[in-house]
Amino acid sequence: MKILWYMILLTLFQADHFKSQRALMVETQLVQRGIKDKAVLDAMRKVPRHLLVPEKIRDYAYDDRPLPIGEGQTISQPYIVAFMTELIQPTKNMRVLEIGTGSGYQAAVLAEIVKEVYTIEIFEGLGKRAEQDLNALGYTNIHLHIGDGYKGWPEAAPFDAIIVTAAPENIPQPLIDQLAEGGIMVIPVGEEGKVQQLILGEKTKGKFKTRYISSVRFVPFLRENL
Ligand code: SAH
Repeated sequence: MKILWYMILLTLFQADHFKSQRALMVETQLVQRGIKDKAVLDAMRKVPRHLLVPEKIRDYAYDDRPLPIGEGQTISQPYIVAFMTELIQPTKNMRVLEIGTGSGYQAAVLAEIVKEVYTIEIFEGLGKRAEQDLNALGYTNIHLHIGDGYKGWPEAAPFDAIIVTAAPENIPQPLIDQLAEGGIMVIPVGEEGKVQQLILGEKTKGKFKTRYISSVRFVPFLRENL
């Protein structure tokens, strides 16, 4: 009985501890660096990032950096997640496609704000773990597919926004095709191991126009069966 109480208290203490770390992360890493979108800040105050990283690195979950999640992949730095989410100007009626589920964190942040999130992961192991974790957190508006995100998700298209979290050398044409009229795409583009360009693309009157946003460094966009 005593042990049970001890465990309950420890769990409560830890939950509280992570909550204050998360509040501090939002304040120092996001607000102070210019993230303004209230929906994005609220979502990041809420999503338990520590429950989406491998257990042994949980204590580092709110650090100002990307972290390893297995298969040589990483969960992005909190700031870059906030920055990319803010760029698509998310609202509650949107349907969003994410390429590169990884830990599922970006998908969860989106799911707090928009109506439906479609997310694709190329590594089966990562995809399955993310699906389990996201289910455990109670998300019912995240649809996960394991496969090559190059092809997008034609059955669910068009999308109001597309966020790509791995860097291809060129923007995949199927993703441009699956963007709705007025839709926004945020995607890092560039060669592996080099500094890449974060590009914002917008489809207006059927035309896809892009502009450079900033320099970034993402893991490479992989291809299946090439
Ligand atoms: N959004 C993730 C970041 C993960 S890093 C998060 O919040 O944790 C990028 C992810 O893209 C990796 O998990 C990698 O396996 C995946 N990836 C790379 N190429 C891909 C492709 N062609 N299709 C789908 N996923 C891909």
